[in-house]
Amino acid sequence: MTPTKTSKKSTPYTRFQTTLGEVFEKIDLSAAERKLLSEPQAIHRDTITIKKDDGKKATYPAFRVQFSNARGPYKGGIRFHPEADLDEVKALAALMAIKTAVVGIPFGGGKGSVQCDPKDLSKRELQEISRAYIRAFAPHLGADIDCPAPDVNTTPEIMAWMRDEYEKMTKSYAPAMITGKPLAYGGSLGRDTATARGGFFILQELVERDALDPSELRVVIQGFGNAGGHMAELLHGAGFTIVAVSDSHGGIYNAEGLDPVRIEKYKRKNGTVAGEYCTGSVCDLERMKMDGVQRITNEELLELPCDILIPAALDNVITEANAKKIHAKLILELANGPTTPEADVILEKKGVKVIPDVLANAGGVTVSYFEWVQGRSGEQWTAERVDHDLKRIMLSAFRAVRRTAYREKMTYREAAFAVGLRRIVEAMRARGWVES
Ligand code: GLU
Repeated sequence: MTPTKTSKKSTPYTRFQTTLGEVFEKIDLSAAERKLLSEPQAIHRDTITIKKDDGKKATYPAFRVQFSNARGPYKGGIRFHPEADLDEVKALAALMAIKTAVVGIPFGGGKGSVQCDPKDLSKRELQEISRAYIRAFAPHLGADIDCPAPDVNTTPEIMAWMRDEYEKMTKSYAPAMITGKPLAYGGSLGRDTATARGGFFILQELVERDALDPSELRVVIQGFGNAGGHMAELLHGAGFTIVAVSDSHGGIYNAEGLDPVRIEKYKRKNGTVAGEYCTGSVCDLERMKMDGVQRITNEELLELPCDILIPAALDNVITEANAKKIHAKLILELANGPTTPEADVILEKKGVKVIPDVLANAGGVTVSYFEWVQGRSGEQWTAERVDHDLKRIMLSAFRAVRRTAYREKMTYREAAFAVGLRRIVEAMRARGWVES
């Protein structure tokens, strides 16, 4: 990877474009193809208005970005977060297009957001926002058009409200219009743990290949939501030593290892969307009664002595400012966009292997694909079938990326982009969007 100039103001989308530009230098694409891969096909925006519990009106900006449908319907989550503006959603939609191509499932890429803070909202208000989102964007959604899913701060319950609103509006039965739904209303077995499981299969492969002993591998995980929490449990179960975890309130560290099952149980019992500061948080040490555990900030967590670092929360956390101080030899990106292009250069020089988001966290959208197939066919797959097929897809994607990295002397991120972009271009050529 060639060093990049520090841009004046880096944003999620400029960071995506920097990586894209670097990969374009290494793969042979026409100007027309590059142009199509550089901007979203459609951007939809609206303002959502709801009545708050106190009777006052509140409005929130909302977006759906449709980056590419060259390989199939747009696919990607909806995020509820105060910082999820259009720029961020564009970047996330682009990553989805590459991600679905890397794992070879028949989707394009899209993403949506409502710029709200769910921690300040009641359950009723959240439901209002979820239904209003569907009313705003319904003409652009559908199983064959654009299929949303959960993302940061959105849950199976929210997916159910969204499907219900869509079915009421369109007077239809539409189980495949959205994925990540609860089991009781068209969900798939294994979807809740899929993002973590997908990344876990890759780690397992790496550990087995190098004949490493998991108990000697110290793991640090940033984020204890759907991806990070499940990953901690999976790795703990497989004998890895989890030395630190965190959530948005802060983190905890114990060089001897933590028990993520206990933390998860505690969080489930006490964590609420509108919980008071630290109640139900992983840093609520007093109430969890944990000994030998030290409280740390999310920034300190990234620089801890460890072998494997798993960012599983938000983007832009491993940057030029802290990349030099990272001890891990391997970074597995369960979050989307956690590492900046500048940090990538530093990590590469240090010999740190980065398994990029578009591969590492693709397990989530892969099981979304299984859910979509089940919704369209009326089938109900067993947990074993989901797990078996997820493993097959994740490992074949990982091997394709590793092969490309090795043969073309690329980092894993560049190789994953190269694999994904080439597949998107193949579809664009086949469809006659560009000359073949
Ligand atoms: N939000 C997840 C992601 O970023 C899942 C998307 C989906 O299942 O469509 O990959």
